[in-house]
Amino acid sequence: MEMMRQATLVGPRDVRIDQAPKPEVDDDSVIIRIEGLGICGSNLHLWLAEGSAVPLAMFPMPGALGHEHSGVIDEVGKNVTKVKLGDRVTIDPFENQACGACAYCNVGYFHHCSNPLNFGIGGYADYLKASENGLYILPDNVETRSAAVVEPMACSVAGIRRAGLPGGETVVVLGAGVLGLSAAGAAKALGAGKVILLAKHDSQAAMAERFGVDVVVRSSEEDAVAQIMAATDGLGADMVIETVGGSAPTLDQAMDIVRPAAKIVVLGLWDNLYPFDSWKAILKDVTLHFSLTHGMKDKRTDYALCLEWMSNGMVPAQDLCTHYRPLDDIQAAFELAADKTQGVVKVVLEP
Ligand SMILES: [Zn+2]
Ligand SMILES: [Zn+2]
Repeated sequence: MEMMRQATLVGPRDVRIDQAPKPEVDDDSVIIRIEGLGICGSNLHLWLAEGSAVPLAMFPMPGALGHEHSGVIDEVGKNVTKVKLGDRVTIDPFENQACGACAYCNVGYFHHCSNPLNFGIGGYADYLKASENGLYILPDNVETRSAAVVEPMACSVAGIRRAGLPGGETVVVLGAGVLGLSAAGAAKALGAGKVILLAKHDSQAAMAERFGVDVVVRSSEEDAVAQIMAATDGLGADMVIETVGGSAPTLDQAMDIVRPAAKIVVLGLWDNLYPFDSWKAILKDVTLHFSLTHGMKDKRTDYALCLEWMSNGMVPAQDLCTHYRPLDDIQAAFELAADKTQGVVKVVLEP
């Protein structure tokens, strides 16, 4: 049996490289040789095993939940028609395993598919077995390894598209990591009028302009919320996009910043239960739109849109991949990704 490297999350803050059988192709699948594997914020929650993430984490965890893949088609089953050997692709992991026919697939919520296929564990590994669905051939000017960033970018894009952004709005984005910066870029690309970004770290603030941000407010400023309100001419935002979670008070901030009868898109994951002021929400007639991950809206997938914007320069999400590390250094790479003082936006592993 041919073997490959695969990471296992052995326990809290302890991820190791093991040997696992290399997946075998069959008639209806492909094998992808992985070249880029992003470390996701959600992976970090489980790696840290703190707060609400604890009951979600069962150790050891083979694959360690890696799901931001890009790579090259290495083997092709005989019934596969949508991709060919050597194609450079990135993978929507939910669309890939969705049935494509149920009520949820029909409305583009692939991750709620009633009859998902099962291709086993992918994760942080050299190879991935996949169906031919949800594979996106990369434009020539998008590098294979950096296309791993499409997965988190598409989460932001999906949240905004599902909540609805017809154009011209004042949008406030709370948080300037991968989700925040790509949300800012996507809001502009979808026609937002003014985009205001709340950023914590210098490295994040430095990228804001490239992502269409008009005003940057630093979260370290005591009057950050007042500065944001001033940037909306005191009216409040038509849409607030929350991307921080963790232990941040960003849902309260969003509630203060949003104008009446407007929307808050919630993308962050909090470490613990989050109490919030329902009176404030109801008195403002606020719509709270929670969004887990990407899919399809108006017959166009979020992945397709992201790749178009990366290729035409509208949203240069490639630039968010600030650090590349070999797969063997996965433990150090997780430590780096968890340490936001080092100028990290996205860490990508290269098997
Ligand atoms: Zn992710
Ligand atoms: Zn389905």
